[in-house]
Amino acid sequence: MSLTNLLDLLPAEIESLVESLGAPRYRGRQIAAWIYRKGMTDLDRMTNLPRDLRETLAGRARADVPATERRTPSQDGSQKFVFRLADGARVQSVLMPDGDRLTLCVSTQVGCGFGCTFCLTGAMGLDRNLATGEIIGQVLGVGRTLPAGARLTHIVYMGMGEPLANYQATVRSLRLLTDPRALGFSPRRITVSTVGLASGIERLAREDLRVNLAISLHATSNDTRDRLMPVNKGFAIEELLAACRRFPLPFRQRMTFEYVLLDGVNDSPEDARRLARLLQGIRAKINLIPFNDWPGALFSRPPLPRILAFQQVLLERSITATVRWSKGEDIGAACGQLSEAVVA
Ligand code: SAH
Ligand code: SF4
Repeated sequence: MSLTNLLDLLPAEIESLVESLGAPRYRGRQIAAWIYRKGMTDLDRMTNLPRDLRETLAGRARADVPATERRTPSQDGSQKFVFRLADGARVQSVLMPDGDRLTLCVSTQVGCGFGCTFCLTGAMGLDRNLATGEIIGQVLGVGRTLPAGARLTHIVYMGMGEPLANYQATVRSLRLLTDPRALGFSPRRITVSTVGLASGIERLAREDLRVNLAISLHATSNDTRDRLMPVNKGFAIEELLAACRRFPLPFRQRMTFEYVLLDGVNDSPEDARRLARLLQGIRAKINLIPFNDWPGALFSRPPLPRILAFQQVLLERSITATVRWSKGEDIGAACGQLSEAVVA
């Protein structure tokens, strides 16, 4: 029988597991505290548990953090982590320090099946979904490498894969991140980025998670979006924005719209004006992402004046629009540059 990964379980489920082994439920709380407070995943060293429970549990479960295969520092201070999963598949996470913020970008799938034409992960295709514990394992794996006293402050679901296409594991990992008995992050410090699965957005709205949502919009007409993002043929812009309008935004929070700027494709002043019109009535902020190049890409980054002119149109309409100069470009860790071959 294969062992249960404790990182796949919610705290209450760890309690039920130990109860099924004849121990009181509070032993489960102690185990969660070891894993998530102290970063200790070795059952043998959970010294406040009775030895017989540790032994019985070891026959049923372990806490499995994926192995860090490579860690590459960037000139800008960010770091790319390559994790090797139990079946040999690999995923990446990117750690990005910025002032007093320390943000981790996590992956939710090995590859991605959505095939956005500007994205290198999309060019890989989908290999498989990550399990809950493989998403949380990235947070614990990176956490272990931080210097004493340093803590992750923000988590973004913007690595490889589409979070809402791996819905169950994504939501369970969000519960572990926010549960005070597990990692205890404030949901305000967590952002889930989606390609625009309107049905997934509706479903997420009912979870009462209160995390931030980022929408990869990237075009202002269905024609252009159809060409850039095949998902648009299933959920067109109007349907996507209707789902966004219905999403219950917590007090004072805004929804982020990501917009990759592609030279000569979606970067005209007219696009900027249309973008402003589309987002009317939504508490939105816009993240403009100048295209990050990768070998074989069919697009290029617009010249700087064109990027700034696009931003200016939005600012003149009182829309918050920031240009996100991606981190880790030199190490292939910037938005849309994540790809890792899968070992057969
Ligand atoms: N699948 C999710 C989250 C991962 S991608 C999504 O699509 O939202 C994170 C962000 O990087 C998305 O907004 C994506 O569109 C953007 N991106 C992809 N390829 C890019 C590239 N080559 N340059 C800049 N941004 C890119
Ligand atoms: Fe997948 Fe997001 Fe890349 Fe599109 S942009 S291919 S949804 S990872």
